[in-house]
Amino acid sequence: AAKKSGRNRYQWFDQSMERELKARNELESGLRVAIPRQEIVPYFEQQIDLATGDLNGFEVLARWEHPVRGLISPERFIPIAEETGLIAELSMSVMRQACLVARDWDPSLTISVNISPWQLRDAWLAQKIIKVLVETGFPSSRLEVEITESSLFDNLALAQSIVGSLKNQGVRIALDDFGTGYSSLAHLRALPFDRIKIDKSFVTSINESADSAAIVNAIARLGESLNLPVTAEGIEDQAIEERLKLLGCAKGQGWLYGRPLSTTAVRRLLAERGMLRTAAPEPDSTAE
Ligand code: C2E
Ligand code: MG
Ligand code: MG
Ligand code: MG
Repeated sequence: AAKKSGRNRYQWFDQSMERELKARNELESGLRVAIPRQEIVPYFEQQIDLATGDLNGFEVLARWEHPVRGLISPERFIPIAEETGLIAELSMSVMRQACLVARDWDPSLTISVNISPWQLRDAWLAQKIIKVLVETGFPSSRLEVEITESSLFDNLALAQSIVGSLKNQGVRIALDDFGTGYSSLAHLRALPFDRIKIDKSFVTSINESADSAAIVNAIARLGESLNLPVTAEGIEDQAIEERLKLLGCAKGQGWLYGRPLSTTAVRRLLAERGMLRTAAPEPDSTAE
């Protein structure tokens, strides 16, 4: 009987592994066509000035609007895009769409886009980003690029040159998910960052875990002494927001301010606040 159940167990593993592999292969081949079809679209998460409560801009987050499966999270498809080399095409497509959308907003509003470590191996990355800005007419001063520390291990010299070119054009650079990796002070000094982003894993638990609170406090103090403003992600409630304000975090984002918004939803929000550029009146087909 033991032998039999053992065999059944292996069969079960085989079947579930096979199912997972099949689902992955489907996502992978789906992704190839989804990018040119623009099924991978930007969603927008509000970034708030914690001192004033003002809306400063949005982080751009990729979502797959799958025709059959509905909305798919980047946690599912970004790793596949990275393994298959589709990530560059995906991120650039999302950035381009975001620039076209954000062009119609109040000029005070910025967008922050995510760049994967893999993209920082491309010596032409800065030129490609600038090209998108030129083609969409979106000003470089309103763009922030988020890179993670792990991007810097492969080829620090190349990362420095890419970041240097972007900064020359007026693009700002944020260090994303700080605290989760090596959090090395050498890396903070090696690149001219404009901002540090504290990972949500510490922020969401700041009022429950003394360790998290200590880490957020340490990063806030580090930002203060290096003159780097700090953004906290993962602000889920008022109590967390209060705590971050006390610690001197400049900006915040998270579910307290709302879930990431589709292009349509963000337009509605900005229209309500009078933060859409007054576009030329729509041609009226009923006239004459
Ligand atoms: P990230 O850059 O660290 O983005 C923050 C993540 O935290 C987002 O998840 C966001 O929706 C989530 N989040 C925001 N506020 C809260 C909150 O209050 N509570 C909790 N629990 N979570 C919150 P999302 O959208 O699933 O993105 C996951 C990651 O995928 C991002 O992490 C980013 O690294 C990557 N990503 C997303 N879009 C792109 C893209 O276009 N290109 C590249 N290369 N990476 C992307
Ligand atoms: Mg990010
Ligand atoms: Mg982040
Ligand atoms: Mg994060």
